Amino acid sequence: MNIPMVDLKGQFRELQAQIEAGFREVCETTQFILGPRAKAFEEEVAAYCGVKHAIGVASGTDALHLALRAAGIGPGDEVITTPFTFIATAEAISYVGGTPIFVDIDPATFNIDVNLIEAAITDKTRAILPVHLFGQPADLAPMAALCEKYSLKLIEDCAQSFGAEYGGKKSGAFGDLGCFSFFPSKNLGGYGDGGMVVTDNDAFANKVQVLRNHGSRVRYHHSTIGYNSRLDEMQAVVLRAKLPHLDDYNRKRRRNAHLYSERLKGSPILPPAEDGKGSHVYHQYTVLSPRRDELQQVLTAAGIACAVYYPIPLHRQEVYGELWAGRNFPVAEQVAEQVLSLPMYPELTADQVHRVCDVLLDAVK
Ligand SMILES: *Cc1c(COP(=O)(O)O)cnc(C)c1O
Repeated sequence: MNIPMVDLKGQFRELQAQIEAGFREVCETTQFILGPRAKAFEEEVAAYCGVKHAIGVASGTDALHLALRAAGIGPGDEVITTPFTFIATAEAISYVGGTPIFVDIDPATFNIDVNLIEAAITDKTRAILPVHLFGQPADLAPMAALCEKYSLKLIEDCAQSFGAEYGGKKSGAFGDLGCFSFFPSKNLGGYGDGGMVVTDNDAFANKVQVLRNHGSRVRYHHSTIGYNSRLDEMQAVVLRAKLPHLDDYNRKRRRNAHLYSERLKGSPILPPAEDGKGSHVYHQYTVLSPRRDELQQVLTAAGIACAVYYPIPLHRQEVYGELWAGRNFPVAEQVAEQVLSLPMYPELTADQVHRVCDVLLDAVK
C-alpha cells in the first residue's frame, strides 16, 4: 500500500461537477480577473473568519508582503518572527526593506516562544509576525499585550491554519492583519496560487485593495507604486466549492492526527503536542525523533511518503546567514534535526494511518 503525503484527488472527485461547471461559466463570461466570483469569495471568507474585510491576492507570500506594506512597515524597520517556518514569512519582511528578527521557538508547539519576544524588542521594532505552524495557533494573547505596550502591529501568518481558532476567534481575526495561502496542498487549497488578507481595519483593507491592483482604485489613476496581485476567477470557483466543507475537512485531519497520536503514545517517537490554547487544524502531522533520518528511510522503503518541514532554520539559510552569523537558536536547530511530517489529509483512512504506525513502531521496537 503506497501512501502519499497528500492526495488532492478525493476532493476533486467529490466536487468535480460543481468545479467544472464553474470553470465553464468563467470561460463563457470571459471575466477572468477581479470578477464577481473572487468578490463573492472575499465576502464568504470575511463572514467565515468573522472580520470586516477579506482581500484576495495572488499568493500567500503576496498576502504577507501587502499586509506588511499596508501596516506601514518599511526600510529600517524590524519585524519579530520565528526562524522555524517557510522562507516566505521572512522574505515578505525583506521585500518591504525590513529586517526579520528571529526569536527561538517553543519545543512543544514549534511556534515562536512568547517568553523570548520582549527581550528582542528595540526602538526599531514595528511588528510581530507569528506563524501558526503546522496548523496550531501561536499564543497570540501575550503578543497582543506586547503590541499594545510597545505600539506594534500584530500580523498573523495563517498560511497553514485556515479554520483554526484562538481566543474564540478564527485564525487571522485576532491580529491587526491575517494572511492566508491557497497553495493547493494547504487546508483550503486552490488549483494554482492564491492568497488572502483579512482585517477589521478599514484603512489597512483599503491599502491592500489599492496595492494589489497597481496602486489604483479608479482605472488608470495610480496613487502609489502597487503590484499585480489578484486572486483570479478560476481559483475562486475552486475555493468557493471547498469552503463550505472546510470545517469537515479539518475535523477529519484532527481525527487522523488523534489516531496517529494514540498509536505512537509511549513509543520513542514523540507525537505533536496540542497546547490547548487554540484548536489545531493539522496542516501537518509532525513527530520528533532523534532517529529521524533512519525513520525517513524506513518509511520511504515501505512506499510511505514523509517529509522534513523544515530542515534548515531561516537564520542558517544562505540568504540570512551573514545577518545572523554566530547567533544560535538552539531549540529551532534541534527541532530541525528531529522533525518528520507524516501523511496527512482529510481523506487519509484509518487503515492507512495504522499502516504508517505499524511501520514506524516496528522500526523503533
Ligand atoms: C505556504 C506558506 C506561505 C506562502 O504561501 P504561498 O501561497 O505559497 O505564497 C507562507 N508562510 C507559510 C508558513 C506557508 O506555509
